[in-house]
Amino acid sequence: MTPDSALGRDWRRQALCAGHPHREWWFNDLADDTLRAVAICEACPVRDTCLDVALATREQYGVWGGKGPSERRRIARAGRLGIALVHRSVG
Ligand code: SF4
Repeated sequence: MTPDSALGRDWRRQALCAGHPHREWWFNDLADDTLRAVAICEACPVRDTCLDVALATREQYGVWGGKGPSERRRIARAGRLGIALVHRSVG
């Protein structure tokens, strides 16, 4: 069971990106837009769940939980090697 199914997708209702007028910031390759998306993710109350879902489903595209695809691959690779990278929200 993925975190997404375990939580019944209700977490998505709290997502700061949901309904955002510039939803494309999360899914394009423009560095400035990605930085804007990551900055919003930093304040998102469901950031950890979002990242867990992206890691569990091996999401290939976009910013999830404040992490882009290359960062998520690095976290997943470290996890397979038994190395715990700190990626959790603080506070
Ligand atoms: S962490 Fe970012 S991508 Fe995930 S739900 Fe929140 S705003 Fe959206």
